[in-house]
Amino acid sequence: MKNVLITGSSSGIGKETAKLLKDKGYNVFTHGRREINNPCYIQAPLNSFEDVKALYDKVLDLSGGVDILINNAGEYLYKGVEKTDIEAIKRLTFLNQTAPYYLISLVIPSMKRNKFGRIVNISSISGSVGEAYASLYSMTKSALYGMTKSLALELAGDNITVNSISPGWVETNLTKDIQGEERAEIIDVVPQRRFIEPVEIANLILYLISEEAKGLTGQNINLCAGLSVGS
Ligand code: NAD
Repeated sequence: MKNVLITGSSSGIGKETAKLLKDKGYNVFTHGRREINNPCYIQAPLNSFEDVKALYDKVLDLSGGVDILINNAGEYLYKGVEKTDIEAIKRLTFLNQTAPYYLISLVIPSMKRNKFGRIVNISSISGSVGEAYASLYSMTKSALYGMTKSLALELAGDNITVNSISPGWVETNLTKDIQGEERAEIIDVVPQRRFIEPVEIANLILYLISEEAKGLTGQNINLCAGLSVGS
């Protein structure tokens, strides 16, 4: 049975993905900041290299290693560039891009030994097309795609695939405060006139980690109800 680690899986996209993968027979380790009573759940912040290493070590204590890594934990920030302070720059760059990179560096040795690995980085449509007042978030999310392409090349000979998914607007905690007029304005520019459901992202992840998707690597897939191609 393949071991999967999904960061940020106490809610939203990560939680829905954990549920689907468990149903499909994967051995899933979930993670988040909230307290949840489940032996396969690891409560940990991801604010420093020590935090990331501690998360990895806890998964190793519970299993033989990570076969499939879903880098999903992330934070959004809607703020003008001149109002974005150093603390926010440090926090978002670490959580959204440095932590995924460092976690990948920790899981790769055993994936190489096993000649199998799947890595999926959850990016954002804001990293694919840009978003005014979300430049810091956008910067960190587009960095994930650069990393995805380069690692896909580096690991191609080891049967390790690396891909990213860029969701559009998804119905989760991250977007729950967007209501009323603001929500109507967003829906108005989404070609399918709707938010994506977390389970739609989960189903794409299920495919990307499957044997059938072994030839799919180094790609970024915009799952965004058409937003990346116009309105
Ligand atoms: P969510 O708020 O439900 O999930 C975010 C997860 O990240 C939570 O489990 C949270 O505990 C974890 N997390 C946040 N900060 C953390 C920290 N400092 N340390 C450890 N864990 C932390 O939101 P979601 O929409 O499910 O987000 C999942 C991913 O999808 C994020 O990377 C987000 O950027 C991306 N995304 C979401 C949308 C959307 O519209 N919801 C769109 C594009 C991309």
